Amino acid sequence: MKFKISEQIATIKPYVAGKPLKEVEREYHISNPIKLASNENPIGFSPKVYDAVSQHMKDMNRYPESSAYVLNNKLAKKFHITPQNIVLGNGSDDIIALLAHGFLNPGDEALMPLPSFLMYEISVKTAKGVPVMVPLADFATNLEGLVDSISSKTRLIFITNPFNPTGSTITCDEFNEFSQNVPDDVIIVVDEAYIEFVRDDAVYNSLKNPLQDPRVVTLRTFSKAYGLAGFRVGYGIMDSQIAEILNRIRQPFNVNSLAQVAAVAALDDEAFLNKSIRTTHDGLDFLFDELAGIGIRCLPTQSNFLMLDLEIDATQVFEQMLKLGVIVRSMSSYGYDTFLRVNTGTKEENIAFIQALKKVLKK
Ligand SMILES: *Cc1c(COP(=O)(O)O)cnc(C)c1O
Repeated sequence: MKFKISEQIATIKPYVAGKPLKEVEREYHISNPIKLASNENPIGFSPKVYDAVSQHMKDMNRYPESSAYVLNNKLAKKFHITPQNIVLGNGSDDIIALLAHGFLNPGDEALMPLPSFLMYEISVKTAKGVPVMVPLADFATNLEGLVDSISSKTRLIFITNPFNPTGSTITCDEFNEFSQNVPDDVIIVVDEAYIEFVRDDAVYNSLKNPLQDPRVVTLRTFSKAYGLAGFRVGYGIMDSQIAEILNRIRQPFNVNSLAQVAAVAALDDEAFLNKSIRTTHDGLDFLFDELAGIGIRCLPTQSNFLMLDLEIDATQVFEQMLKLGVIVRSMSSYGYDTFLRVNTGTKEENIAFIQALKKVLKK
């Protein structure tokens, strides 16, 4: 190629998503494979979403409302904040990118755990910033290591609570101690994509006291507990001055009108949300029991997925599971060669996963 690619961007490895269902159907000639690889919601989404979206279809010749007035006001009311504290995104991925572009000058540093959600690194590099990665300590965020890595160039710190991919968490006490050691001019991004699934009350939840610390930017998503991954809606809650910057640089129509309507309807159906959380907890309890029964070690989790240690090369197991029509995630690209990550499915899917795993491991 005769064009010169930006040096930072040349170092970006393409994002590897969970294998899509259709791809497995095509490549392995399997009908009805089961996907437990992208932490999606196995029970779908609220029927209210379906109705609201169907009704809105007739207006799709119009541009979306850029302010997403109804959704913004609904979220503001839910969290006792103002619409000026909210930034909506085409998934929370979008807001991660906006933060990197809004707050990094070339060469500025953004700290993050290693491994972590790939979008942090990709967005920071795309914004010409420098990702500084701090290895996990015993599968959990190394908060002391993050503090030790702060330099005069640090502008952003990304933390994920509960953590993807290990499922570990940060307690309130741990967060408070950590934040006291972060300088005033550093933004702490707390990605709470899985917070709805947390069962342990000691876990930090930044929206129990929203905006208490002006450095904290909370990221939430409709992709997991609400089951709207395909619609692409996420939101950030933050100090209004930070929000103002992000709203200046976002695409004016970054949340499409069906996504806005879907998110509003999803917020109106608390019964569905509770059912989705209950299904997840039942699924985790079942999987932990079954895996313990065949002597497989799992990491504790507060999310909708768990990591299991096969103590053999997990990529091979992953591939054999694919042939049986069960898609999970090998953790080798995260540096955990013997681990799989699996999210909870429906009862039937969880049973099918265990059966396939037993077959592959000859247990
Ligand atoms: C799934 C996930 C998200 C959500 O991404 P969307 O763009 O909102 O679908 C964000 N952060 C982490 C760590 C995730 O695992």
